[in-house]
Amino acid sequence: MTTPETSPQDTAATAAVRKTDEQWRAELTPQEYQVLRQAGTERPYTGEYWDTKTAGVYQCRACGADLFTSTEKFDSHCGWPSFFAPLAEDRVRYLHDRSMGMDRIEVRCAACDSHLGHVFEGEGFPTPTDQRYCINSVSLKLVPRDDASGTQA
Ligand SMILES: [Zn+2]
Repeated sequence: MTTPETSPQDTAATAAVRKTDEQWRAELTPQEYQVLRQAGTERPYTGEYWDTKTAGVYQCRACGADLFTSTEKFDSHCGWPSFFAPLAEDRVRYLHDRSMGMDRIEVRCAACDSHLGHVFEGEGFPTPTDQRYCINSVSLKLVPRDDASGTQA
């Protein structure tokens, strides 16, 4: 890629999984469709994984790509699953989101371009990075594993 970077936060769409709106609608539940394909947000403390401490890999609910692991998950008390980093940087893509009168960084699955949540910086959590990936439970599917760190050589 030789595209000049206007912003280090915005990354180009490289979606390998492409489906029509009709297909997504047929494959996902109404709530999954609303969050993943229409950038909706589940209500805090209502999702499946906000308080989950099970070891495992969090996959994209839409396409099954490995996105996060329990190793990077931390308790932010915000009501959504929070991670200080993705499994690998190339698993997600970033987009400026200026909706709702805010300037936020949207996080999408790099493989299928589905909406996952937002990433926030500088909140002072005691984690290895200064970032909090605030992700909708409904965008994720946890695959329990005894040793989630095994995915990172
Ligand atoms: Zn995906």
